[in-house]
Amino acid sequence: MSAPERELIFDAHLDLAMNALEWNRDLTRPVAELREREQGKTDKPARGNGTVSLPEMRRGGIGICVATLIARIEHNAYSPVFGWRSPAQAWAQTQGQAAWYQAMKEAGEMVQITDAVGLEKHLQLWAAPGPAEKLPIGFILSLEGADSILSPQHLERSYAQGLRAIGPAHYGPGVYANGTDATGGLNERGRELLKEMDRLGFILDATHLCDECFWEALDIFSGPVWASHQNCRTLVPHMRQFSDEQIKALVARGAVIGVALDAWMMVTGWVRGKTTPESAGLKLERLVDHIDHICQIAGDAAHVGLGSDLDGAFGKEQTPMDLDTIADVAKLRQLLAERGYQPKDVAAFCHGNFINFLKRAWE
Ligand SMILES: [Zn+2]
Repeated sequence: MSAPERELIFDAHLDLAMNALEWNRDLTRPVAELREREQGKTDKPARGNGTVSLPEMRRGGIGICVATLIARIEHNAYSPVFGWRSPAQAWAQTQGQAAWYQAMKEAGEMVQITDAVGLEKHLQLWAAPGPAEKLPIGFILSLEGADSILSPQHLERSYAQGLRAIGPAHYGPGVYANGTDATGGLNERGRELLKEMDRLGFILDATHLCDECFWEALDIFSGPVWASHQNCRTLVPHMRQFSDEQIKALVARGAVIGVALDAWMMVTGWVRGKTTPESAGLKLERLVDHIDHICQIAGDAAHVGLGSDLDGAFGKEQTPMDLDTIADVAKLRQLLAERGYQPKDVAAFCHGNFINFLKRAWE
């Protein structure tokens, strides 16, 4: 008998290696310890407020996730993210991140999932009775922003290393595509990248693409598309969010959209470093509005999942007040039930939709 509290949660967006290497967080340690170690540090925003570590994921049943490689080149446009002077430096950064995941695999902390067989094996591991404390966290490797891909050969090499999904853009203008807060279509290299991704069997992550690039990418790319972490523009207006038309187009492509827990994507008018979860009255319930909006447009509960982004350079100061660590995402189950969602739809949100997506993509 697998206890209901063991019901798996799939988180489609975590920047684990970035936290390990750029924030110097040993993610094998409890969140309380990570916070303690960061007291008095001011080199990054949100020091001491982290919500994610591997033991905490196990405690909440988040046994499988999409984990990123992330590095970008610098640009003069607005960006909250550090950028490298050249793509070669960004490539080296992502290779360092890949080496950290490798070390986690060797330590038995994580297990990399690259195909349907590996996925099934991992699901059975987590479905077996017994405590989750010793189970490895499964991860599908994704690249957030493709600036680090130096050439088509590097794309092939990345696939061989187990990379399975790519979001061509991040913040601002990138090497291949325009991302959040930028405008304009794909350049020639961007169009080539998408064709190569198609040929190799990558998943396209539509998250962070600006509107022009979003529509162009959907036209050019014929393979599986998901959006790892993105909310609804109708509820909280910003170009970083999906319009209803975009949601419709994604649903038509069989996509799953992961909803994110970054406060400003849930609260209109949120000011970073000023608005607090308390002053905004922000609770997890607000995310259910976005989940429900996607379900209403889709006409079913088959196209939405979680893409928490909880370690995306923010912490407790920018998440719902009824969330202390990532383990609390499990509370969404109850909240969805209260909103009238049936157990099968709750399970579809928690893991079923993304898992079915991967099964189809890797058939
Ligand atoms: Zn992101």
